[in-house]
Amino acid sequence: MPAVSYYCPRCETTVELQRDGYLADKSVTPYPLDGWDYVTADEDYDTPEADGVRFVCGEDDATRDPGAAGCGEPFYLSFVKHGTTPAGAALDSR
Ligand SMILES: [Zn+2]
Repeated sequence: MPAVSYYCPRCETTVELQRDGYLADKSVTPYPLDGWDYVTADEDYDTPEADGVRFVCGEDDATRDPGAAGCGEPFYLSFVKHGTTPAGAALDSR
């Protein structure tokens, strides 16, 4: 799987996830979205049950920025849910 990089919305430290291309990303936010179920980067996030990934900046194994210590605050990657947004509906029609 390709590695996809995300940036902490607070301090721009980089994290990396191995992601399949079919999972479309919605957004990276400093707070969780209502109704989304988050798993950590160490768990199996590539399942239909996971709506997103909760990072702790600088403290996850996924943090790949050796020049940055991270801010220690959580941030959230939210996947597009199939059918709930125009982008998600487009995924369903594939
Ligand atoms: Zn940070």
